Amino acid sequence: MHEIGHIEMSRPNLRRCEDEYLATQWALDHLADYGLDDNGYIVTVMMDYQDYIDREYDRGIRRHCKTLPPKDSLQLKHKGFENYFLKS
Ligand SMILES: [Zn+2]
Repeated sequence: MHEIGHIEMSRPNLRRCEDEYLATQWALDHLADYGLDDNGYIVTVMMDYQDYIDREYDRGIRRHCKTLPPKDSLQLKHKGFENYFLKS
């Protein structure tokens, strides 16, 4: 689903962290279309992808990228877990 999200959401000039966020959020938003949204494993996978997105974001910071969006705009959301990944 994530890889299909890359195809669906790909745009020019995205930072890596944005690209990964958009692909993953697309996948989360379309799980129900395939009856996959009730799987308890989703939270584990979401956490792994959020860590991945955060690592790519931090790498962008280290590389002095000037076009990074606010980090909290790259927080994955899924029904029932709206605030699950918001870190203080
Ligand atoms: Zn990806």
